[in-house]
Amino acid sequence: MRVYHFEESGAEFNDTDVDVSYMREAIKLAQKAFDADEVPIGAIVVSQGKIIGKGYNLTERLHDVTAHAEMQAFTAASNFVGGKYLKDCTLYVTVEPCVMCAGASYWTQISRIVYGASDEKRGSSKYGKLYHPKTEIVSGVLAEECGDLIKSFFRNKR
Ligand SMILES: [Zn+2]
Repeated sequence: MRVYHFEESGAEFNDTDVDVSYMREAIKLAQKAFDADEVPIGAIVVSQGKIIGKGYNLTERLHDVTAHAEMQAFTAASNFVGGKYLKDCTLYVTVEPCVMCAGASYWTQISRIVYGASDEKRGSSKYGKLYHPKTEIVSGVLAEECGDLIKSFFRNKR
């Protein structure tokens, strides 16, 4: 998997067991979305080794296009810390954030975002760097598992 340091030139590699185990937690939430017939994306926010926010996609149930996993995890985490900034926090999300969620993450000034599968259609990366300059982006953690959930969801739809 790759780590992009936007403040530094080039990319370096990082592969931590910590990231993998937190991504498994996010995948559990994606599975909940799947079971609720929602696009299966899950997210958690971690601060100092503790999960302080969780979310999974609920756009259908809530009739709300903003009810993405990341948005809910941000809201929960902000409630937990009692402030709008999520400095020293990491967002784990099973699929690459869209432009809305990347934009929301900008306002939180979150330290790190770790995502699993890339989203070539709706991922924000094709629109340029929408993340906060201080946010470190790590991609490809358990990408296959994360992506397989999405694929099987849409396979069942056809
Ligand atoms: Zn989103």
